Amino acid sequence: MNSPALDLLRRVFGHAEFRGQQAAVVEHLVDGGDCLVLMPTGAGKSLCYQVPALLREGTGIIISPLIALMQDQVEALEQLGVRAACLNSSLPGDQAARVEAQLVAGELDLLYVAPERLLTERFLALLGRSRLALFAIDEAHCVSQWGHDFRPEYRELNLLHERWPQVPRIALTATADPPTRREIAERLDLADAPCFITSFDRPNIRYRVVLKDNARQQLLDFLQPRPGQAGIVYCLSRRKVEETAAFLCARGIQALPYHAGLDAGVRAANQRRFLREEGIVMVATIAFGMGIDKPDVRFVAHLDLPKSVEGYYQETGRAGRDGDPAEAWLCYGMGDVVTLGQMIAQSGAGEERQRLERRKLDLLLGYCESTRCRRQSLLAAFGEDHPGGCGNCDNCLEPPRTWDGTVAAQKALSCVYRTGQRFGVTHLVDVLRGADTERMRQLGHDQLSTYGIGTELSAQQWKGVFRQLVALGLLDVDIEGHGSLRLTADSRAVLRGEQAVSLREEVVRKRERERSART
Ligand code: ADP
Ligand code: ZN
Repeated sequence: MNSPALDLLRRVFGHAEFRGQQAAVVEHLVDGGDCLVLMPTGAGKSLCYQVPALLREGTGIIISPLIALMQDQVEALEQLGVRAACLNSSLPGDQAARVEAQLVAGELDLLYVAPERLLTERFLALLGRSRLALFAIDEAHCVSQWGHDFRPEYRELNLLHERWPQVPRIALTATADPPTRREIAERLDLADAPCFITSFDRPNIRYRVVLKDNARQQLLDFLQPRPGQAGIVYCLSRRKVEETAAFLCARGIQALPYHAGLDAGVRAANQRRFLREEGIVMVATIAFGMGIDKPDVRFVAHLDLPKSVEGYYQETGRAGRDGDPAEAWLCYGMGDVVTLGQMIAQSGAGEERQRLERRKLDLLLGYCESTRCRRQSLLAAFGEDHPGGCGNCDNCLEPPRTWDGTVAAQKALSCVYRTGQRFGVTHLVDVLRGADTERMRQLGHDQLSTYGIGTELSAQQWKGVFRQLVALGLLDVDIEGHGSLRLTADSRAVLRGEQAVSLREEVVRKRERERSART
C-alpha cells in the first residue's frame, strides 16, 4: 500500500513500514479525529503525532512534561530536516522570542511546549494567531491523581478543545491501568474518542521473584553467570546504590552508580558509559531510566521492592527492547514492606494519597507472593487479559507447590491476637516455636496458649507464612508500630474456621539446596 503517510515515513524518518497501530492512528489524526493512544514504552508513540503534524497544514503542538526528552526529540527531528523547536523554562528569553515568532509565521512543523508555558494567556494568544495542525498531549497519565506523575496543569488542558474544537487532539501514554485510562478520557474530554491500544506484553522478558535472604550475595549469584551483559540494578536509597556498586566492582563486575545526589557531571558521564560501552551494570535509584533508549539492556534487577506494579513494569520494560531474551529479577522480603510503608507514612502526603500508596504496595506484595503466571498478573494491572501459562516466568517454569495452610494460618493469627497485635514477625515466630528466652518470660508470653504450638514448621517457614498472610490481606503491617502485625477484617473468617488458606511452598533457596546436597 502506498499513501502520503507511508511515503513520508520512508522519506523523512527512513523507516520501511508502520508498526502495530501506528498507521491507524496516523490516518485517524490526519482525518481530523481525536484519539487516545496506549502503547508501552518503545512501541513508537512519537511517530503517531509526528507524521500527521507533517502531513497536516500548520504546526503540531506537543505538550510534554519532560524538558530533557523534549530537547532530545527536537534534536533528533532537526537532524532529519524537520522544522522543530521547543519552549520551556530552560530557554533564554531571546531564543524563546525567536521560536514564538517562527510559530506565528508558520515556520515550524512541530513545537514542544511544557504545560505551564502553554497555559499562559500570552502563549494561548500566540496560538490564536497561528495555524495549528494538531495538539499532542504526551505522558497523558499526568492528569491522573492515581499515578505518580500527577501534574495539576494537565487537568486544564481540556481548554484546548474548548478554544480550538476543530484541531484534532491525541493523548498518549505508556501507563494504561484502567483507573488512569478512565481519568484521562474524562479529564481531557476524550470519552467519545477512539482508544488505540497495543498489548503491553513483553514476551521476551522473563520475570522472576526471589525471597530476600542475603540480597547482595543473591545479586552476585544472579550476575555471575551473565558476564558482559548490560543491565540495571535498582535500589531504594542513594546509600544502597553506592554500597552495591562498590560491592560489585570489588568482585570484578563493571558497575557504576547513578542517583540524583551525585554530581551532574558524574551522572552524565556514567550514563554515557552505560549507553556507549558494553556490559556495564548501572546501579541506580529510579531517577535513572526515564527516556533511556538502550536496546540491549539484558536484565533489570530490583534489590528492593518497587513502589507499585505499574512502576515495576515500567522499570523492567527497559530490558530487552531489541526483542532478544531479557530478564526481570526481583528480590524482596518483609523488611521492604515495612521500609516502604514507613516512607509512605513519612512522605507528608495527605491521608487519601497515603491510602492509595499503601494499596499499591499491597497489590505489589500480592504479585510477589502469587502462584499465578507472572505475566498474567502484570498485564491484569493494565487491564489486559492474558490466558496465563506464558512459559517464560518463574511460576510457569517451576510451578510452585501449594499446601493447605489453614491450621498454620489459624495458629499464626491467634498468636498475633494473644500477644496484643503489638509484635513483629521475629517475636511471633519465637512464641509459636516456644523460644526459651528471658524476654519471653518477662513478657509472660511463655504462658500464652499459643506458646510453642508451632514446632512443626521451621522459623524460616513461619516467616513465609506471615509474609503470605500479609500478602493475602489477612494481616496488616502496622507502620507506626514499627512493623508489628495486626489482624484485618478478613482474619476472623479464618480464625473461625470458615475460610481455608492455601499457601505457597517456600522455595528452598539455591544455596541452601546446594549446601544440603553436599552433606
Ligand atoms: P515511545 O515514545 O512509544 O516509547 P518512541 O516513539 O520513542 O517510542 O520510539 C521508540 C523507537 O522505535 C525509536 O527508536 C523509533 O525510531 C523506533 N520506531 C518507531 N516506529 C518505528 C517504525 N515504524 N519502524 C521502525 N522503527 C520505529
Ligand atoms: Zn508465566
